[in-house]
Amino acid sequence: MTFTTRFAPSPTGPLHLGHAYSALLAHDIARAAGGRFLLRIEDTDTSRARPQWEELIYKDLSWLGLTWEEPVLRQSDQLEVYHAALTQLAERGLIFPCSCARSDIRAALSAPQEGAPLAPGVYPGTCRHRPMSDRKTGDALRLNMRVAVQSIEMPGFTETGAKHAGSHQLDPDRLIAETGDAVLGRKELETVSYVLASVVDDAAQGIKRIIRGEDLYQITFLQVLLQGLLGLPTPEYHHHRLIRDDQGKRLAKRDDARAIAKYRAEGVTSQEIRRMVGL
Ligand code: GLU
Repeated sequence: MTFTTRFAPSPTGPLHLGHAYSALLAHDIARAAGGRFLLRIEDTDTSRARPQWEELIYKDLSWLGLTWEEPVLRQSDQLEVYHAALTQLAERGLIFPCSCARSDIRAALSAPQEGAPLAPGVYPGTCRHRPMSDRKTGDALRLNMRVAVQSIEMPGFTETGAKHAGSHQLDPDRLIAETGDAVLGRKELETVSYVLASVVDDAAQGIKRIIRGEDLYQITFLQVLLQGLLGLPTPEYHHHRLIRDDQGKRLAKRDDARAIAKYRAEGVTSQEIRRMVGL
């Protein structure tokens, strides 16, 4: 089976050194394995995704010397596919509509809780009793985590990144306490959450190893659960170290100072970028 990996940026700002590291690492590993490297544009967040950032992604990655297969999958082109996955989960009673504002959730969390304590910020379950027939425009669609973890045998995954290397079995109690009823979409089809869209695409594109930043390690547990619920294969995961600024803070899209485009404009070469990120 051909080794296949991908780089899946969201076009919501300029790519920075952290993205360069992620893309170069995935590309190098794929090329060394004689495998495939795919680029996927994760633009389901219509409030933040912009065509200009997508254009810049192609430009930055080409300049870094990367090549990828065409056509590039753009998530906004296939929202029905994600909607079908969400519908599949809803038909099994795993999804409920939620109209809580952030302030409602904060207030509910500050009240005394019944049962095992939830990690900070985990949804307290206010709307969990609501049926899908009751959903209204603007409602978030949440996974009923308690029902979800009971509905399948718990899957596991293999991690090859140094920090968490080994095999990990999902733990239902931890999923309930630490992940909770995650938002998977909204009543309007356009806003499918990235966690679900990404899982559907990784399976459809035959991704064998997901190479991405350490900041996405926690979300892997939810994504592996979704793979189990949807009957999709679980790839291997490799979460790599994050590139940090001089103060040790991880880079964000708003930190234009580390944008690849900025280095390019200043005459830095792509070989120098490789060295800067430690490759
Ligand atoms: N689109 C996500 C991001 O830009 C990355 C998703 C992934 O690699 O799984 O943060």
